[in-house]
Amino acid sequence: GNVVFEDVVFHYDEKRPILRGVSFEVKPGKTLAIVGPSGAGKSTISRLMFRFYEPQGGRILIDGQDILAVTQKSLRAAVGMVPQDTVLFNDSIGYNIRYGRWDATEEEVREAARLAQIDGFIASVPGGYEAQVGERGLKLSGGEKQRVAIARTILKGPPILILDEATSALDSFTEHEIQEALRGVAKGRTTLVIAHRLSTIVDADEIIFLDHGRIVERGTHQELLDQR
Ligand code: ADP
Ligand code: ADP
Repeated sequence: GNVVFEDVVFHYDEKRPILRGVSFEVKPGKTLAIVGPSGAGKSTISRLMFRFYEPQGGRILIDGQDILAVTQKSLRAAVGMVPQDTVLFNDSIGYNIRYGRWDATEEEVREAARLAQIDGFIASVPGGYEAQVGERGLKLSGGEKQRVAIARTILKGPPILILDEATSALDSFTEHEIQEALRGVAKGRTTLVIAHRLSTIVDADEIIFLDHGRIVERGTHQELLDQR
């Protein structure tokens, strides 16, 4: 999973440029964090990666291939996302983790749960993986739900992952736990983290600061801290 943005230009509306020539590369297995104020264009980058919109200029390449030239199906298989707000199915915890990967072995499901740090919780509830979630079953906290979703993403195993402020809706204690879980997902995967603040993304190999659709600063976490 190699991701390249090559001078990407984008607007929703001609009168208002959103991305004004954005270029970066994320090498296979590396993590890039995109930081910047609200409205800078960070989420737009993830929407372009999923081809919800097409850029008006430049190219987005995955493993050297323009994403406009691949099928939606293979794009979906290549790029995964941990959503900000997780809605689980009213079914068992195991169902929710396996969703989209029905051929997964029990071993793989358990490993995903372990990496997502939800295994301890599952072991503590009656029924374990068979425990039902939703109205008539278990009531999971926001953080627990999100860790189930993270386990699902780990199991599905897309080579490229987008984390779009995946922790924004949570309190700071939960955020810390989720951050740990997300390390499990990002491990070995090409990852784009979209974040408001520098502090949550210490594991990034490179950080870019986006402001008004332009990269205004880039470097490692240490390099950026040294400049401040
Ligand atoms: P960020 O994630 O950095 O907060 P976004 O990429 O979500 O920024 O949005 C960049 C700008 O584009 C914002 O001003 C936002 O209001 C605007 N925007 C986002 N989506 C749309 C859309 N579908 N139509 C018009 N404007 C949009
Ligand atoms: P944030 O980046 O703050 O988490 P979003 O990325 O969801 O928020 O959206 C940023 C802004 O763009 C919001 O005002 C949202 O309503 C608007 N927006 C996002 N996606 C679309 C879309 N597909 N169509 C229209 N407006 C959108």
